[in-house]
Amino acid sequence: MTQAPAKLPADSTVYKTLLESTKAIPWQIDWKTARFTYIGPQIEALLGWSPSSWETVQDWAARMHPDDRERVVNFCVAQSQAGTDHEADYRALTRDGESVWIRDVVHVVRNAAGEVESLIGFMFDISERKKTEQKLLDLQQELESLSFKDGLTGVSNRRMFDTVVEAEWADARRSGQPLSLILIDIDYFKQYNDCYGHIEGDACLKQVAQVLSGAATRGRDGFARFGGEEFALILPATDAAAALKVAERCRDLIRKAQIPHGCSLVGPWLTISLGLGAVVPAPGDAAIDFIAAVDRRLYQAKQRGRNSIVGDA
Ligand code: GH3
Ligand code: MG
Ligand code: MG
Repeated sequence: MTQAPAKLPADSTVYKTLLESTKAIPWQIDWKTARFTYIGPQIEALLGWSPSSWETVQDWAARMHPDDRERVVNFCVAQSQAGTDHEADYRALTRDGESVWIRDVVHVVRNAAGEVESLIGFMFDISERKKTEQKLLDLQQELESLSFKDGLTGVSNRRMFDTVVEAEWADARRSGQPLSLILIDIDYFKQYNDCYGHIEGDACLKQVAQVLSGAATRGRDGFARFGGEEFALILPATDAAAALKVAERCRDLIRKAQIPHGCSLVGPWLTISLGLGAVVPAPGDAAIDFIAAVDRRLYQAKQRGRNSIVGDA
C-alpha cells in the first residue's frame, strides 16, 4: 500500500495545473478593488469570453441573464459583505448570445484581522442538471394533470370532481353563497351500446362530454365525468333558478347535437335526464348528503319518462 504524502507540494505550478485541468472554473476577486485577479482559462471554452476580458465584478454581472441578475448580484454582495460562504445558480450569457446554467460556489477569504480580503470560487456548468430538473418538473405536471383527467373524454374525472366539490362546499359555507350541482345521466345508454357496440358507445360518450362542457360559462364552474355515462356540473355562487337555466341549456345542446339513438324509447335522438339542487351549507351539513339528494332527483327524472329535469320542488 502506498502512503499518502504528508505534505502538499509547495510548487504553485502543480496547483495551477490541477485547477486548470478540472471542469470547474476557478476564479478569484480582490474585495477592495472588486477586480478579478484570476479566472481559469476553461471559461473561454464554456462561455466564449477570454480570461483577460474578465476584469471586474461588473463584467461578471453584465454577463448574467437579465432575469437572474438582480437576485443573484444582491444575494452574492450581501453574503460576501457578511463574510459568509455561499453559492448561487444563474444563467451566464455566452459571447454568442446563448446562456449556460452555472452554479457559482464562493468562499470568502479573510485576513489576519478578520477583514474580507478576497473571494475565491468555482463555477460549475450545471446545464445538464437543470435540463433534467426541468424534464422532471414537466413530467410531474403532466402526471398531475393526467391524474385529474378522464382518460376517455379528456374532461375532469371523478377525483377532480370530489376535490372541487370539497373546496367549493367549504367556500360556500364561508361565503353563504348557494352552491348548485347538476347530475346528468344519458338515457338508455345500455341500449345504445347494444345497438351500436361499445366502441361507438365510447365515441358517443366523448361527444356528449364535449357538448356538455360548453353548457356552463362561468370561470369557476366545474364539469366532470361523474361515472360511466354520468356527468356533473358544479356551479359555485349559483342559485336554483340560475342552475335550472344551465340544466335546460344542457338538454338543448344535446337535442341540437342530434346524436342518433335508434334503440331509445324516448325518440330517434339521444337524450339526457338531469337532477339538480342548490344549497347554502349549514354547519353539520355534509356534501355527500347533498350529492345523494341531487342523485335522487335524477332518479325521479328517469321515472318521469326521461329527457327531463328535476330540481327544487
Ligand atoms: P337509463 O335511461 O335508466 O339511464 O338507462 P341506461 O341504459 O343508461 O342505464 P344505466 O345508467 O344503468 O347504464 C349505463 C350504461 O352505460 C351501462 C354501461 O354499459 C354503459 N357505460 C358505462 N361506462 C361506459 C363506457 O365507458 N363506455 C361505454 N361504451 N359504455 C359505458
Ligand atoms: Mg347511469
Ligand atoms: Mg343512463
